[in-house]
Amino acid sequence: MNGHSLYVQVPGETPNDPPTYKPYKNLWNCGVCDRLAYSLEVADKCCGMKYCDLCKKELGVKSYTTLCGDCVDQARLDKAELVEYTGGPIYDPGSDRYFENEEEFLDTHCDSPWGDVPQELHPCEEIKWEGVDIMSAYENATSDLAEDFERTIVDIDGLFKFVEEWNGKQTRVSLEPDMMKKITIAKPADWPDEETGA
Ligand SMILES: [Zn+2]
Ligand SMILES: [Zn+2]
Repeated sequence: MNGHSLYVQVPGETPNDPPTYKPYKNLWNCGVCDRLAYSLEVADKCCGMKYCDLCKKELGVKSYTTLCGDCVDQARLDKAELVEYTGGPIYDPGSDRYFENEEEFLDTHCDSPWGDVPQELHPCEEIKWEGVDIMSAYENATSDLAEDFERTIVDIDGLFKFVEEWNGKQTRVSLEPDMMKKITIAKPADWPDEETGA
């Protein structure tokens, strides 16, 4: 409990009377960092441990969020629209891991009882790397030059054409989880039994 009332000094009746102190109305402060607060509860919590609103897990003293990461992930999953899984990469927010497909996901969890396997996952989109942004690079390279300089550059079109072709050859894709959607993975028939693990 770090919260304190703040006191205002009230002068005595005559210069010889000692001053008295009375607490400010509706004003408290944190005994650790001195920050002002409009309620004792807020002052108490200021430099105290924060807890997740839902699961009550400790969030740390400096936390400004009201939910822990797991509860944020779960809230997002709860809100997401359930769609049919049609193959492709998937994302598990709990472990922050990507899987190429259902098979890799199941392989990774094959030693766990089904109850411990994440049941809700986000599907992913494959985003192709677009390559070099030649327009920005070009503007960057010419921005400090004199205005008439551009007229003297040889074969600007060739530069753009080359980079566009080169960008087109790139095959790199990155995975972007679709947080608005979720999928579930069906339990395979031969999955180890829950109780015995056998
Ligand atoms: Zn404080
Ligand atoms: Zn939580």
